[in-house]
Amino acid sequence: MTEYIATIGLEVHVQLKTRSKMFCSCAVEFGAGPNTNVCPVCLGLPGALPVMNEEALRLTALAGLMLGCEIGPVCKFDRKNYFYPDMPKNYQISQYDVPFCLGGAVPLHDLAYPKDAQKTIATKDKKVRLVRIHLEEDVAKSFHMETATGIDFNRAGTPLLEIVGEPDIASPEEAFAYLTVLQQLMIYGGISDADMEKGQLRCDVNVSVRPVGTEKFGTKIELKNLNSISGVRRALAYDIPRQIEVLRGGGILDQETRRWDDARGETTLMRIKESAHDYRYFPDPDLLPVRTEALVAAAKARQPELPWDKRARFVSDFGVSEYDASVLASDLDLASYFETAAKGAKKPKNVANWILNDLQSAIASASVSIRDCPVRPEGLDELVNLIDSGTINSRQGKEVFVEMFATGKNAAVIVEEKGLKQESDSGAIEALADEVIAANPGPVADYKSGKTSAVNFLKGQLMKLSKGKANPAMAGEILEKKLQ
Ligand code: ADP
Ligand code: ZN
Ligand code: MG
Repeated sequence: MTEYIATIGLEVHVQLKTRSKMFCSCAVEFGAGPNTNVCPVCLGLPGALPVMNEEALRLTALAGLMLGCEIGPVCKFDRKNYFYPDMPKNYQISQYDVPFCLGGAVPLHDLAYPKDAQKTIATKDKKVRLVRIHLEEDVAKSFHMETATGIDFNRAGTPLLEIVGEPDIASPEEAFAYLTVLQQLMIYGGISDADMEKGQLRCDVNVSVRPVGTEKFGTKIELKNLNSISGVRRALAYDIPRQIEVLRGGGILDQETRRWDDARGETTLMRIKESAHDYRYFPDPDLLPVRTEALVAAAKARQPELPWDKRARFVSDFGVSEYDASVLASDLDLASYFETAAKGAKKPKNVANWILNDLQSAIASASVSIRDCPVRPEGLDELVNLIDSGTINSRQGKEVFVEMFATGKNAAVIVEEKGLKQESDSGAIEALADEVIAANPGPVADYKSGKTSAVNFLKGQLMKLSKGKANPAMAGEILEKKLQ
């Protein structure tokens, strides 16, 4: 039986995080009432003139720098001509032969892969090359109702990056990692909020299969209607075997566009590619070419630390494990929370543990974001220091944390209120140890006859007697000493 391999290339659109639109001063705002953020320019009324948004140009330069693209000295805007209800001026302002950025790559790192696939990565540290990044204006959005279609022009004119990838991706898991890294970089750079559910990051998937050992790519199939990164993975995991099955059955594949139905978990035919569109591109006569030098210089000054550099710094500066550092650095809010909390910590590694365990599960079950977490980083640092200095033990720490999360009170206040201080007075613990030894002659005898694990039972009894307040390490030491 012939074996096949898959080839995948993604085209990603990213809405830039600017206050106003690309060529007019209308607000860019998600969820505003339909057609409330519009003007003659973004409605495409005759005679209206576009004015470039400089911040959008800077953000494009920043995206290019972060992805290692080449940025030429000049770029220009072209008209892409077509007639469609979402673009009533009959053209979209885009870039054609002189795009803002060329080349570059998206580096895939292990933690960007789906969790269940991180142990079976086919090509470690793969770099997926980019063809180009250009800047264009988003189009309006159609809403199909039962008997009519409405068009909302709020989205029309939103600055939009088109990031075209080379067909370097070989599996659904690599596509997932590619999108995860791209999304992470957009958020890190403040380039976009890149929320797929809000349409701020949208993805067209191109996929083909060919027999192993052959050079020529197979017929490209385009998948549409992908609303999440995991949806892209699922759609590819469905369509690749489907294509292979068609070919193995002696069939041929047409150059189709297929629609992913996430609920049913399948792709269905939308349309077979008609002859290629002729968009009659020509330079937009309303817009002068743009010199990029000053934009690139401004973007350079704004380059953020990259996620993998942050990860390395967390390992070297705070002594957290490589894995924990990756999780912390994977989310900018989580990373800055950690950094604030770890700054004054005696043991930053313990702060990381608290964030990755108790804190993350608490915010998940309360469905709040880390930004709105009622326990602020300074407060968590205080709690962890109370534990590390032996004022309370870690079991008490968990109790305090739950209370902090529920009430927003300081750790020290809760410790005081609940009378939770750990008993670290050796005299008091010695008295408890004497009591436990006297009450448990059996285990004491076991210990003395060489069954040293019996000390754990005695330690448990001591902790119980102290109502959980005894310093557990001291309790163990004192018991052992007394049992000699
Ligand atoms: P088109 O001219 O149809 O727009 P392009 O060559 O510009 O095609 O490629 C568009 C996208 O499709 C790119 O992201 C590219 O990586 C991807 N692509 C091109 N050919 C293939 C193929 N045979 N299989 C999978 N992806 C492909
Ligand atoms: Zn407008
Ligand atoms: Mg193309």
